[in-house]
Amino acid sequence: MFARLCIWMLAGSLAACAPAQPLSGPLPADQYHDASSLNPRAEGRRLATACAGRNGWGDAAPPARIFGNSYYVGTCGISVILITSDQGHILIDGAVAPAAPAILANIRALGFDPRDIRFIVGSHEHDDHMGGFAALKAATGAQIWVREAARIALETGEVDAADPQAGTIPQMTPVAVHAILRDGEPIRLGEGAITLTPHATPGHTSGSTSWTWQSCEGPNCANIAYIDSLTARSRDDYRFSDHPERVAPYRATFTALRSVPCDILLTPHPEVANFFARMAGDAPLIDRDACRALVERSRAALDARLAREARQEAAQ
Ligand SMILES: [Zn+2]
Repeated sequence: MFARLCIWMLAGSLAACAPAQPLSGPLPADQYHDASSLNPRAEGRRLATACAGRNGWGDAAPPARIFGNSYYVGTCGISVILITSDQGHILIDGAVAPAAPAILANIRALGFDPRDIRFIVGSHEHDDHMGGFAALKAATGAQIWVREAARIALETGEVDAADPQAGTIPQMTPVAVHAILRDGEPIRLGEGAITLTPHATPGHTSGSTSWTWQSCEGPNCANIAYIDSLTARSRDDYRFSDHPERVAPYRATFTALRSVPCDILLTPHPEVANFFARMAGDAPLIDRDACRALVERSRAALDARLAREARQEAAQ
């Protein structure tokens, strides 16, 4: 199989056949899926089937390998990503608190011990992504690392009063933060096994964080990008036009995301990245345009929101 991959990739770059080199071009989903001994296509199909018509934040889903040492262990409505190494694992996001037992069961079903998770990190400080942190920390003993802007929300369980969605987001069980992440400074685990880089992508919340890392299957490596929510959501009476200080971070985030390495796009809400269809083999899992397209969609949605607010103001 790898020989076939190398021949296919020769068109792009000879270097793609060397060990641990990034992919030189989009890899057709069927070739990628066949490349793994665990046959992720069957796992991905099972995941997609289990979640067909179910997208509740707490709806349990079966686990599935995404690529290499990266696994989906979340629910049908909320992504939770496990990255493994022989010297411990990292969990990205924790879904809602009631989903914690299903997430832990998924990790065990893959053959990993939740107590080997060393770090729990996340996308943004809302209960649908970090509400499960307290229960997952208690079950794993892992350290929780967030950016400074998310720390108080985690430690108090309260949504930041300046959050445009404040008043609509439930409280979380408070949980102690072990350390503060800095933009671009990776978490490393195992000797080169995991290098997970946080990217400050504020907008949806002040603490919003996106993540990039590389996972490999044999000689084939993919840049995985877990891009945080980019939607301009708010409670009904909130106007982004009145808060330029909340609009500017989105603009900066859209610019920053232009340069992140992105072969496989993942998002905290799986449907935003058409994740289940891609896992089932119905759409390409590896798509180097997906990050850029998500950013452009999000930019257009923010512009449309601001234009709508301007029209409403003009009509009053
Ligand atoms: Zn969310």
